[in-house]
Amino acid sequence: MPLVPTRPLPPSPTCPPKTSSPVFGVCIPIDYTLVQMDDGEPLLSALVKTRRAYLVDLDGVIYTGSRPIPGAGQFFEELRQRKLPFLLITNNSTRTGRQVSAHLKGMGVLIEPEDILTSPEATAVYLRRDWPTGTSVMVIGEEGLVRAMVGAGLHLTTDPALAKVVVCGLDRRLTYERLVRACTAIRHGAAFVATNPDLALPTEQGFLPGNGATLAYLEAATGVKPTVIGKPSPVMLEIAMARLGVEQHETVMIGDGLQTDILAGVRASVATILVLSGVATIADVAHAANPPDVVIDSIDIVRQALIEYV
Ligand SMILES: [Mg+2]
Repeated sequence: MPLVPTRPLPPSPTCPPKTSSPVFGVCIPIDYTLVQMDDGEPLLSALVKTRRAYLVDLDGVIYTGSRPIPGAGQFFEELRQRKLPFLLITNNSTRTGRQVSAHLKGMGVLIEPEDILTSPEATAVYLRRDWPTGTSVMVIGEEGLVRAMVGAGLHLTTDPALAKVVVCGLDRRLTYERLVRACTAIRHGAAFVATNPDLALPTEQGFLPGNGATLAYLEAATGVKPTVIGKPSPVMLEIAMARLGVEQHETVMIGDGLQTDILAGVRASVATILVLSGVATIADVAHAANPPDVVIDSIDIVRQALIEYV
């Protein structure tokens, strides 16, 4: 089956013709040091032949709202058949991996909880690198974060004098009193760690304040910047690669966000594929400070490339 874009893409005046992909017609800056192209071979085919591990964003890549993106479920089937390791990576700090898995299964995309890395799970791994079992942690966050902290053997506290770490994720029942306690703990020297920096949440009611807004509040009140684990921090991708037992040069990040997924991939030194099925448009790519290695319409193009080349 030919790999062709499902809609026409405008030419980019910044890209010399010989670096454009003859198959996809997408004109993007290509880093030849990252993936060597054979004579005229499209970059995506070179990429799927040389990389074996896939880190995949969810919203805008696997589904939009409550609708799955065509080919997404089958993409993971192709990976499983070829025994290629993968992890779905989400900045969402409110859900557990089990809840994300159930949400995906409800849309017909079969993904097990162990194939999902949430920002709270990555935060738990990060904390346990430096802090022992039983360390007292103050949590701003919902079920996904609370469960991840308890599951990692950390002790939850609301006492600013006892907290060694303040961990902040999205909390839709946050109160001024709890913000005061978190600020006091941070001022007393507790480490300040954040699951994700997303400023706004896209919802059916429009954009709602995200965890990044709470972080800005705490930073303004304490003068302390948080250590961020979720995308665009490379920490989450490094934790994901460690969990899969793969190296940077073996790994691809697929996402729909230039400032989140692609930037995290660039910072973590992995190959990056931008899909245009979510927030980013081809016009955004032309102005991106950290452009992706490959731009395609949707994850289904990667599925087709796996079938054709791997
Ligand atoms: Mg996304």
